[in-house]
Amino acid sequence: MSAASSPTQCKPMLIDGEWINNGSERLVSVNPATGQVNYEVCAATPANVEHAVAAAARAARAQNWSALLPHQRAEVLHCISERMSANAERFAQLQMIENGKVWSECVAQVKSAAATFRYFAAVCETLGAEVTPARGNYLSMTAYEPYGVVAAITPWNSPMTMEAQKVAPALAGGNAVILKPSELTPSPALELGRIALEAGLPHGVLNVLPGSGASTGAALVEHPGVRMVSFTGGTASGKRIALAAAKKLMPVALELGGKSPHIVFADADIEAAAQAIASGIFEGSGQSCVAGSRLFVQRSAYQRLLGAVLNIARSLRVDLPDAKGAQMGPIASFAHRDRIAGMVIAARNAGAEVLCGGLAPGDVRLARGAFYLPTILADIENNAAIAQEEIFGPVLCAMPFEDEDDLIAQANATVYGLAAGVWTADFARAYRVARRLEAGTVWINTYKQLSIATPFGGYKESGLGREKGISGVRLYQQTKGIYVGLGTP
Ligand code: NAD
Repeated sequence: MSAASSPTQCKPMLIDGEWINNGSERLVSVNPATGQVNYEVCAATPANVEHAVAAAARAARAQNWSALLPHQRAEVLHCISERMSANAERFAQLQMIENGKVWSECVAQVKSAAATFRYFAAVCETLGAEVTPARGNYLSMTAYEPYGVVAAITPWNSPMTMEAQKVAPALAGGNAVILKPSELTPSPALELGRIALEAGLPHGVLNVLPGSGASTGAALVEHPGVRMVSFTGGTASGKRIALAAAKKLMPVALELGGKSPHIVFADADIEAAAQAIASGIFEGSGQSCVAGSRLFVQRSAYQRLLGAVLNIARSLRVDLPDAKGAQMGPIASFAHRDRIAGMVIAARNAGAEVLCGGLAPGDVRLARGAFYLPTILADIENNAAIAQEEIFGPVLCAMPFEDEDDLIAQANATVYGLAAGVWTADFARAYRVARRLEAGTVWINTYKQLSIATPFGGYKESGLGREKGISGVRLYQQTKGIYVGLGTP
């Protein structure tokens, strides 16, 4: 995605409260719905990374952020939330032209990001430290302190929500942050930097460095001045980051990939389950870490359930993201669309039956975009590549199961453990299955409900650590024990 220097304007990066246009490395932003170039964005070079880390380290030591009282930091976070809401259309438009998500989803995601800043403002203002039980003549307490400079590295599928989920608690915890957005979606992060300055965040406390993962991202992770990394992205990148972090004994939070099982027992409300299964995999064109990409249905209900999901998939409106009533936009990039198509072709060649989709839409209005139809594959073995590898697209792999033990064995037979869904009328079974599934989030008779108040993260290779919730701030703080002597020991 890098382009050679050209005389045209490129969007500058934000370092130490200044907008920097270094004019050398650039990212080319392409609208995946039309194939047209949106604009170019300056990519951070190693020198920019040095500059940003030095500025963030200064800001982390300064008295005007980390030393503020929590309610004073909360005030700024609140102001960022309000400005984000006031600029919702602009944020939504930038995301839509960069990753192709439909307008309604872009708007919902700005609201969610603004709510995240509001939530962490409240947490910041109300979170206390602890007085711990003394075992002698002293007062003992636990204090929580910022790491200093935190790097936040984010993916392209839901940039605004992911960025708010990292930046808000890291700032609440008193840190300075360097945000590196995905190569595909740099603009919402730059916009966040702009409104944060307007909201009164001191210079250097939030820096935004667009750039590639291999260059800008890796330089940040390896930099000795960066004391903690919060990453959301693919499992392969997460492992590389964990290795680099191990070399400097730096804590990392990793939110990684998934291959989530969506499970239907024969006694479930089949219509409701079918609706949730379709939206669980096709919403956002399947580019969601928690997409319910492996469908397991009890054999006696298999054909009935699959027929219902097939009807919904065929009726979904795939359209330009700003078209009224569009339910699915394009895939976020042409390269990713081609990768998805390649995986489906390989699965078909290996014997999978393509029940619907498996190709780009025929509509000539969409011919220039990276579109791909909702796709359902059947006749798959659970150990087949298509049932094991994350596709990150609108592709559902359907498989039958016999009984609860067979289901648990199949559902857990994956390196991932991000999320799962269970549909059944039997509450005791729902609870039993939820506890046996190896996943960080389990939905029972619902799917993809997410709350900023509930901790989120993965089991196994889906991640390390938990974001969100009150303890989301603690992810960005280190713990100190303090003892105050009260006289003779
Ligand atoms: P990616 O791993 O390719 O990139 C994510 C970010 O990391 C980008 O900003 C990229 O530039 C950067 N990066 C890549 N390699 C790096 C390195 N070695 N050092 C530092 N930074 C590096 O992922 P993607 O394609 O942008 O996003 C899709 C993936 O993200 C999917 O696997 C999806 O499941 C995952 N995801 C997970 C969650 C979650 O909460 N668990 C949420 C959304 C997306």
